[in-house]
Amino acid sequence: MKLANLGGRAVLMVTDTEAFDVATASAGRFGPALPAVYADWTEFARWASFWLGGSGRDSGETVAVDAHRLQAPSPEARQVFGIGLNYRAHAEESGRDLPAKPATFTKFPGSITGPFAEVELPEGGSTDWEVELVVVMGQRAHRVAAADAWSHVAGLTVGQDLSERNLQFAAGMQFSLGKSYPGFGPIGPWLVSPDEFDDPDDLELWCSVDGVEMQRSRTSDLIFTVPALIEELSAVLALCPGDLIFTGTPAGVGMARQPPTFLQPGQVVVSGIEGIGEIVTRFR
Ligand code: ZN
Repeated sequence: MKLANLGGRAVLMVTDTEAFDVATASAGRFGPALPAVYADWTEFARWASFWLGGSGRDSGETVAVDAHRLQAPSPEARQVFGIGLNYRAHAEESGRDLPAKPATFTKFPGSITGPFAEVELPEGGSTDWEVELVVVMGQRAHRVAAADAWSHVAGLTVGQDLSERNLQFAAGMQFSLGKSYPGFGPIGPWLVSPDEFDDPDDLELWCSVDGVEMQRSRTSDLIFTVPALIEELSAVLALCPGDLIFTGTPAGVGMARQPPTFLQPGQVVVSGIEGIGEIVTRFR
């Protein structure tokens, strides 16, 4: 299933330009907004599979999807986790040792925005890109073993962990503020459920700035995989439906370039993941 947020309403994608409105198709049982869908995820997923598998696909009325009306597929996450140094090559370019435990920080939820956002660059002049696979939780997860982790995931989406480097490193080891300006967490264009992938643990991801490729890797290079992250995080606290985990970025960020390169007004960042799609972020 591909689940999107079209102008504040949950929609099930049929093609890239056509979708079922969840509240309409379910006669008001689910939705209309995304948070209500996550709150009842198990029942919703069962209904969606039934609807897309037969009755709905034949008889339901679809709505046109204008990509620029798409918003964040989980717009009101209670918790947003970021994981640092989770690809070997990125840890090396950052001059850091590989972490023994996931290097966890938060992006405050106010930083989350949609897949085709325009983001204002803050003062500081050192805003950097980080394409990341983002996990959206579907089930409450507390003390979940890695072997059971995928069944607690609603789906995967594309994200950018935008980072103002000067502020990120000015506050000791507390990265969170430098990663939480408005719009610093674009995600989308939709959530893709784990069953849609041949192998959800091995997906190519990439990022370009003004058409120049900056990052390209595979999630099979993650040091802490998605199941490992869920086990580690849920050993401490409960993950809630709709929560987001930014799983870390591969090598190729601007701060590691010679000379260091940061985003300028007018630039466009395209971030993509195999089997999901691309998001486009413009800066002003
Ligand atoms: Zn990151």
